[in-house]
Amino acid sequence: MDPLLAYARRQDRADGLAHLRARFVGADTDLVYFDGNSLGRPPAGAIERVERFLREDWGGRLIRGWDESWLNLPYEIGDRIGRAVIEAKAGQTVIGDSTTVLLYKLARAAVDAQVARDPQRREIVIDRDNFPTDRYVIEGIAGERGCRVRWIDVDLERGVSPEQLAEAVGPHTALVVLGHVSYRSAFVADVPELTRIAHDAGALVLWDLCHSAGSVPVHADRWGFDLAVGCTYKYLNGGPGSPAFAYVREDLHGVLQQPVQGWFGTADLFAMGPDYVPAPGIRRFVSGTAPITAMIAMQETLAMIEDVGMDAIRAKSIALTSYAIDVADEWLAPLGVTVASPRDPGERGGHVILQHDAMREVTARLWQRDVIPDYRDVGGLRVGLAPLSTSFEEVHRGLDVTREVLREVLAERAGLG
Ligand SMILES: *Cc1c(COP(=O)(O)O)cnc(C)c1O
Repeated sequence: MDPLLAYARRQDRADGLAHLRARFVGADTDLVYFDGNSLGRPPAGAIERVERFLREDWGGRLIRGWDESWLNLPYEIGDRIGRAVIEAKAGQTVIGDSTTVLLYKLARAAVDAQVARDPQRREIVIDRDNFPTDRYVIEGIAGERGCRVRWIDVDLERGVSPEQLAEAVGPHTALVVLGHVSYRSAFVADVPELTRIAHDAGALVLWDLCHSAGSVPVHADRWGFDLAVGCTYKYLNGGPGSPAFAYVREDLHGVLQQPVQGWFGTADLFAMGPDYVPAPGIRRFVSGTAPITAMIAMQETLAMIEDVGMDAIRAKSIALTSYAIDVADEWLAPLGVTVASPRDPGERGGHVILQHDAMREVTARLWQRDVIPDYRDVGGLRVGLAPLSTSFEEVHRGLDVTREVLREVLAERAGLG
């Protein structure tokens, strides 16, 4: 037998999380899913939860559901994410709007608070390889508030270094916005060090945790950053467009005023009073009616994470990406493919970029053959490996087909030349 396949099977047999794969819809088919970092697979239990919710809670309780049980759900789930996923003590994490909207609300609140404290602090520092929505939101806020964006140019395979950040921040910095795990290269930023540098300059710092939440452990309270946002439809399998979470460090609750002041963020929702009076605590960062239906499914994955813990998830994630790199070195490097993600597992998140100028075409053909990675310019085939639902043998099969398809594309090119 192919030694790489034998190794994959041994790894699957020894994998302490292997039993969880069977709980995901479609994991028993031959489809290879390399995109759980963009949209996680649905756990079968999530479907049951949603169905039960629709029938019994919505159908049975109707408007009566808007008692404590629905009203508290965004905070209850927020606290579970705080406890199990990002190590934040209760009362600092909430399920809110989309990542984009939460990012806007928190970043604008942070900039406004800084400018109010010191009118000189009008710069927002962000890197050019930050996720598009983050860059667009920050540019929008800068335009709206008469602030300046200070861009950091980064090595696409490395992310922002401490030296670069130290160079970019100073007495004019209001806010620094960075990503924990790069959506492109999977590079893992040194959050505590970069946070310290931003704080030493008097800046607030907001971390985007979309590609780490549920994959790479986060220690929010210990690392001491100010603000964070993160996705729930990636590694937390909340379903397409499930609402994001926000983290606001406790001591900032009374200091920050978010810009979309709505009735769900007021001290007394049902008072319906003449003026907006923000609720104490994390509640004030909420705006309108909580998307309750959209936060049911994610609880299934949260229960799994609570069972096994983030450390076991991270260990499997590293084993999966290391295996994918070993296979790529053996099979794809001879075809001209390079690994554009960090080789040091400590610096690598949950996915691997395999680089070749034929990858756009290769990705399209893989999708037709039920191998689903995604493509990130320029020439990057992104192999996302969700630790709860991916097996080693699945990685083997997917990369085997990738090798075949790449050979096919290269042969056609040679024929045309
Ligand atoms: C997926 C992702 C987002 C998505 O934002 P939405 O508002 O949910 O579309 C934002 N930032 C990063 C880093 C992401 O990976």
